[in-house]
Amino acid sequence: MASPVFHGLAGAGLAYALAGDARLPLFASLKKAAPWLVAGAALACLPDVDYLPGLWRGYLNTTHQQATHSMAWVLLVSAGIWLLGRAWRPAWFGRKTAGFLLIAIGSHLAIDLVTEDRLAPYGIPLGAPFSSRPVQAPVAFLPAWEKTALADLGSWNNLRTLGIEAGAGLAFAAGCGIAKRRKSALRCGT
Ligand SMILES: [Zn+2]
Repeated sequence: MASPVFHGLAGAGLAYALAGDARLPLFASLKKAAPWLVAGAALACLPDVDYLPGLWRGYLNTTHQQATHSMAWVLLVSAGIWLLGRAWRPAWFGRKTAGFLLIAIGSHLAIDLVTEDRLAPYGIPLGAPFSSRPVQAPVAFLPAWEKTALADLGSWNNLRTLGIEAGAGLAFAAGCGIAKRRKSALRCGT
C-alpha cells in the first residue's frame, strides 16, 4: 500500500487538473490553487483514516486495509461530503464537484491496487461489504513502505521507498499540470 506521500501528491495533482478556478501558470496562481491542492491531497489520503486506531497501539496495521478501502465506502463518503457541502454552499457543490470527490477519494483505491503489499491479506477489499475477497493488480508499480511498528517509519528502507514515492508523485502531479496547460492552450487556440 502506498503512503500518504504518493496519495497526497496524486490528489493535489488531480485537484489542480480538475479544479475550475486553479488558473495557469501554476506558480503565479499557486495562492489561488493552494486550497484545491490541500483539499485534493486530504481527500486522496482519506481511506487511510483506518491507520488512526493503530496509532494508539503502536501498530499501524491494526485496522488497516479494511472497509475504508472499498468502493462502497468511497461512494458513501463522497456522497456524504457532497451533501454536507451542498447544504453549506450550494453553488460550490454541483455535478462537477461530485465527480471531483469521487475521483480524488477513488484515486486512493486505484493507487493501492498497483502498490506492492507484503502483509496478508494481500490487496484491498474492493467489494466490501458484499465481498471480503482482497483484490490486487497483477503488477505493482510502487514499493510497499514498512509500518508494522511506529519505529519502522524512520528506517532506511522506508526512506528509500518514500523517496521513490515523492519522485513518482511529483512526476504524476507535474503530468497533471502539463495536461491542464495543454487543455487550456487548446481552448485558447494557441
Ligand atoms: Zn490505503
